[in-house]
Amino acid sequence: MSQRDYFEKDYYGVLGVTKDASNADISKAYRKLARKLHPDARPGDKESESRFKEVSEAHSVLSNAEKRKEYDEVRELVGSGAFRGGGFPGGGFPGGGAGFPGGAGGQAFDLGDLLGQMFGQGGGEGAWTTPGPAGRRGPGRTAGARRGRDVETAVTLSFADAIAGVTVTLRVSGRAQCTTCGGSGAKPGTSPVTCSTCNGRGLVTENQGLFGFSSPCTTCGGTGRLIPEPCQTCDGSGVVNRPREIKARIPAGVKDGARVRLSGKGEPGSAGGPAGDLFVNVHVAPHEVFGRRGEHLTMRVPITFAEAALGARITVPTLDGPVTLKVPPGTESGKTFRVKGHGAPRGNGKPGDLLVTVDVAVPKRLTKTQRKALEDFAAMDDSGIRDHLESAMTAPEQG
Ligand SMILES: [Zn+2]
Ligand SMILES: [Zn+2]
Repeated sequence: MSQRDYFEKDYYGVLGVTKDASNADISKAYRKLARKLHPDARPGDKESESRFKEVSEAHSVLSNAEKRKEYDEVRELVGSGAFRGGGFPGGGFPGGGAGFPGGAGGQAFDLGDLLGQMFGQGGGEGAWTTPGPAGRRGPGRTAGARRGRDVETAVTLSFADAIAGVTVTLRVSGRAQCTTCGGSGAKPGTSPVTCSTCNGRGLVTENQGLFGFSSPCTTCGGTGRLIPEPCQTCDGSGVVNRPREIKARIPAGVKDGARVRLSGKGEPGSAGGPAGDLFVNVHVAPHEVFGRRGEHLTMRVPITFAEAALGARITVPTLDGPVTLKVPPGTESGKTFRVKGHGAPRGNGKPGDLLVTVDVAVPKRLTKTQRKALEDFAAMDDSGIRDHLESAMTAPEQG
């Protein structure tokens, strides 16, 4: 709500009292109207509702001695025609010098601004400058600088890249900084200037003494700056729609389904606001050999019956090259061995391990010689591995 709204309203008329009404008269008139117009008394009646607001507003000003006095004073000035047409008192008016737009007649100017100036709250002499034909509001035409939107994209990494970390090139479409003007919105060789109406604040505080209202600066659209010569590529907005490529470092050890945030890599902000963030949803392609369990890599390695029984040194791959794994004699199928430090990196901490699970493979086909050797082995077997089942072998006695 701008100050102009206030001084253009006839609060005495709204309450139905005369200009010399006493405080008691004003309160009485207000209470009577408020009862009649209160939304609770007339639910859904839009007209009553807006009148109720007007009445409350009028009361809040007229019931306050200080506000009422100033309201009366300003109303008197307005009523005298001091602000109308060419009758502007150029001489004694603060700031009313050369900067004031010459052709005041016919040109709409903001009473709120004039009043702010009168009461010493304006932005100084420059405040009278209205945007010329080349003057533009900032992008978005909303109040103030705005942060750019966050953007999401996805990337699929190879298993090895996810473990090692990798720099990827992401293609993102949408709003991007204009390359012609570098996002400033100003034609190359020119630059945006600070809005002198609001001194770059984007807000105009209109006469704090009476009604402390801040509203977005209309000169610059709340952006705090003006672009005298807009960039032609982006029409002064500083952003264009184009695909862009972003190089991003995906940290080592990233897991499938992770969401990596690249701050400031989203859409550019407007009017000097910060850029949004870019969120990268990471997919990791499965590996033909390795699996993943947290920070550990997993793999299954077949070993022969003989290796399991006799023990062996077997060579297994890791992501850092092959290593030798010692399988002790008498290893059971399904046993897991730990190769320390060959898992995924873990920030500053120790990396994970490679967990190797062995599966004892049973030969499906035997040569004659192998069969003979195994038969000899079986004949010598005295392991008694099923002895513990004997006691359960007896058939229950018939009752
Ligand atoms: Zn541009
Ligand atoms: Zn401004």
